[in-house]
Amino acid sequence: MIRCTYTRPRKLRLYGPRDLQRIDQLQRLTPADRRSIAAAACVFPFRVNNYVVEELIDWSNWQDDPIFNLTFPQRGMLDDADFQLIYDCLLRGGQQLRLARLVRRIRRKLNPHPAGQIDLNVPYLDGEPLPGLQHKYRETVLFFPRPGQTCHTYCTYCFRWPQFIGDPDLKIASADVTSLVNYLERHQEVTDVLITGGDPLVMSARLLQGIIEPLLSPRLRHVVNIRIGTKSLSWWPYRFLTDRDSDDLLRLFTRVGQAGRHLAFMAHVSHPRELEPPEVGRAMARILQTGAVIRCQSPLVRHVNADAETWATLWSREVALGAVPYYMFVERNTGAVHNFEVPLLAAWEIFRDAHSSVSGLARTARGPSMSALPGKIVVNGVATIHGQDVFALEFEQARDPDWVGRPFFAELDPTATWLDDLHPAFGRDEFFFADAMRDFQRQRAQKLREIKAQA
Ligand SMILES: *Cc1c(COP(=O)(O)O)cnc(C)c1O
Ligand code: SF4
Repeated sequence: MIRCTYTRPRKLRLYGPRDLQRIDQLQRLTPADRRSIAAAACVFPFRVNNYVVEELIDWSNWQDDPIFNLTFPQRGMLDDADFQLIYDCLLRGGQQLRLARLVRRIRRKLNPHPAGQIDLNVPYLDGEPLPGLQHKYRETVLFFPRPGQTCHTYCTYCFRWPQFIGDPDLKIASADVTSLVNYLERHQEVTDVLITGGDPLVMSARLLQGIIEPLLSPRLRHVVNIRIGTKSLSWWPYRFLTDRDSDDLLRLFTRVGQAGRHLAFMAHVSHPRELEPPEVGRAMARILQTGAVIRCQSPLVRHVNADAETWATLWSREVALGAVPYYMFVERNTGAVHNFEVPLLAAWEIFRDAHSSVSGLARTARGPSMSALPGKIVVNGVATIHGQDVFALEFEQARDPDWVGRPFFAELDPTATWLDDLHPAFGRDEFFFADAMRDFQRQRAQKLREIKAQA
């Protein structure tokens, strides 16, 4: 491995909700603007590091800056009444109890676990739930290692936000690699494990090795693809350059390839700006050198990346740096979604305009994709069929693999932002999967009852 000698080590500084005074760049804001950020940061997780503050945000235009909007909680994330209550609390000061109650009440309203993540996706082994795992699509198991449930910086739009606010009821995480391995041994249909968070690359190389090494055992030969979901390239590229265990981390990636498996580095990149600093290109080159493939994905988010040119630049830059554009997601229906969501029609227009303006190498991205209860549904576009305008939809992933790739149609509704808003076209009562979905939910509820009865 080529040692990284051309990047100077950077000392990490993290800022949380109590450190707003310590961020020099924020002092150019008015006290009212700073208090607005503080108010939103009472409800939503806030953490930003010195690299993001110093290198990625254009402070001369902070209000419209995509990375500022991606990392600093904002007034628009709360409804006006809630915002005012918290703001007044902060203004008066010394109202800790009242504030804590307010915050709890507001958080409960924000749909902390969308798409049945716990009820429908947590798998069972010998009648025991495995809370740090999710198994929704046949071939892929998600693993949430407990020490990987934070991030170098938090994204304001993150649908995993309940995991960061320290509410144990809302956390999904596991410290138990043995259960993961046992589960995989019994599930030969699983080809992919996705280690996710949070950001698992906040973990040390040693901890990560403790998860990955057991997956490379010959008994788990069917697990071909080890995926790591991470935003470290964007939030802390030094993770792959000059951190104390950067070289160990890259050696671990190499080791995956040597064991005959594929390391799929699933990078979350929201905006082309994140790929501009030279450190990021160097980090990507080092990752690629291990034999890993970098695939990039992100949601489409108002105030951050809601225009075609941004996506075209993003995908082209990814390709130029050796990465593969993968998914454009539709912002999930949780948290401050109302502040960030883009209607499906507008999302498709942005996707299409971007997709049609780049080279074929950058057209590997799929989307806009909704990760909904039955599966990942892509909006393929608008079609006019016998004079009626409809959305053409398709599953990219589904609870039942047989649903994948079958075109289906919904009435065109320019304001719809999620599957729940859509109605089947051509006078049908339900989408083709509705019956099977109900069956699945019934079976799952039945199984839960049986397990409870045994316990
Ligand atoms: C997106 C997702 C996957 C992976 O889907 P791919 O299309 O294979 O990338 C797996 N499990 C869950 C729960 C997901 O949301
Ligand atoms: S890095 Fe990923 S998990 Fe962490 S806050 Fe951002 S979107 Fe959420």
